[in-house]
Amino acid sequence: MSVTTSNATTSATAFARAQAVIPGGVNSPVRAYGNVGGTPRFLASARGPYVTDVDGNEYVDLVGSWGPALLGHAHPEVVDAVRDAAGRGLSFGAPTVTETDLVDEIRSRVPPAEKVRLVSTGTEATMTALRLARAFTGRDLIVKFAGCYHGHVDALLASAGSGVATLGLPDSAGVSAAVTGETIVVPYNDVEAVEAVFTEHGARIAAVITEAAPANMGVVPPLPGFNATLRRLTLTHGALLIQDEVLTGFRVGYSGWWGLEGLREGWSADLHTFGKVIGGGLPVAAVGGRRDVMNLLAPTGPVYQAGTLSGNPVATAAGLATLRLADASVYARVDAVSAQLRGELTAALSAEGVPHAVQWAGNLFSTFFGADAAAHGARDYAAVLATESWRYAPFFTSLLESGVYAPPSPFEAWFVSSAHDDDAVGRVVAALPAAVRAAAQA
Ligand code: PMP
Repeated sequence: MSVTTSNATTSATAFARAQAVIPGGVNSPVRAYGNVGGTPRFLASARGPYVTDVDGNEYVDLVGSWGPALLGHAHPEVVDAVRDAAGRGLSFGAPTVTETDLVDEIRSRVPPAEKVRLVSTGTEATMTALRLARAFTGRDLIVKFAGCYHGHVDALLASAGSGVATLGLPDSAGVSAAVTGETIVVPYNDVEAVEAVFTEHGARIAAVITEAAPANMGVVPPLPGFNATLRRLTLTHGALLIQDEVLTGFRVGYSGWWGLEGLREGWSADLHTFGKVIGGGLPVAAVGGRRDVMNLLAPTGPVYQAGTLSGNPVATAAGLATLRLADASVYARVDAVSAQLRGELTAALSAEGVPHAVQWAGNLFSTFFGADAAAHGARDYAAVLATESWRYAPFFTSLLESGVYAPPSPFEAWFVSSAHDDDAVGRVVAALPAAVRAAAQA
C-alpha cells in the first residue's frame, strides 16, 4: 500500500505559467528538475518533516530548503518569533538589538568569529570575504577548489559545484576572463596541487576559500588533515584562509564544521562565512572572523560593503529563535536520522547489487553510483563527474512518486531535520526498494 504522488497536474499548470514569465520557470536553477526530468513540484506548505504540493501530495522532505530547515518546517516557536517581529515592523534600515543578539549567538558557538557582519545571502558573505582578504593582504589571487560552490560571485564561478555542476556548465557566461583570471582552481583533497600553487604564486595569493566540508558536488568530505594543511600553508605564505560554512554552519553540529575539526585540532580560519541555518528560513547570512580583518569593513575601515535589508529584524528574529532552539538534543537527533538513512540506503543498494558509495560529512550525506565510487570513494570533482550519475534520475523519480522529496540533482547533499520522526524516516525506508530497483535498471 504505497502512497502515490504522481498526480502533478496543478504543478504542471503552475510551471507552464511560470515559464512564460520567469526564466526557466524558477528563481534558482536547480529547482527546475533539469537533471532529473519531470514536473517540478510547486509547493504550497510545509510542516515538520513534510512538504505539500499544490496538488495536495505530501512528501517527506529531504531538501530542507537546501539547509536552513534544521528544526523541520514551521517550527511553532520560530513562527511565533517571526510573527512577533513582523508585528513590530518589517524593516527599519537602522540598527536593532536582535542583530547583536544573533551575532552573540554565532560568536558563542564559533569564538574565532570575533566580529561578524550580517548580510542577506551566502553569495554576499563570500563576496565580502574575498574583498576583505584582498584588502588585508594587498594581494589579488584567490585559490578555490573544483566542485566547491560559494554562491554566484563572479570570481568564484570557475569550476563551481551545485547548480553549475547540475547544469554541466564549466563556468558561467557573462563572467569576464579578467575576473576568473585571478582565481586559481585546484582539485579538492589534493595537498600536492595546493603546495604547487603556493610554491609558484605564494606571494600573490590573498586567500584560499574552501567549503569547510564540501556538499555542493554531492558530499565529498575533506580527507583527514586536508583543512589543517590549508591552514598551515596559508599561514606560511601570509594568505588568509576562508572557511565557507554557509551550508555546514550550525547544521553539522553546534559549532558547525569548525566544531568537528578545527576546535578539536586547535586551529581556525581567518574568515568564516555562514548562511542558511542562521536565518532559520529567512534571508540571513554572515561573514565573521579575526577582529583586525573584520575592522577593515566600512564604516571602521576602507572596505565598502552594505545592504538595505542586512540584519533585517524579521529575518534575524527567525535565525535567533532557530539557533536558540538548536541544542545538543537537536544535533543528536539530526545525526541519528542521518546515520539511520545512510544505513538503510547502503542496505537497499547492496541488496540490489548496485555499486555505490554513500558519502557523508557530519549529518550531510549523498549517494554516488558506480564501481569506481564503490571502490575508491569520490574524493574530488573529477571523480564525482565520473560516477554513474544517470542512475539518479530514475531513483529520484521513484522516490518522488512514493512521497519522498529528495534533492532533484545527483550533486546535492540530502538534508534531514530534528523533526524527522520515526514515521517520516519509515516512509523513506519504505520507498527505497523500488527506487533502488529503478536505479539498478537505468
Ligand atoms: N556557500 C555555500 C557552501 C553554499 O552551499 C551556498 C548555497 N548553497 C552559498 C555559499 C551561497 O549561498 P546563497 O545561495 O545564500 O547565496
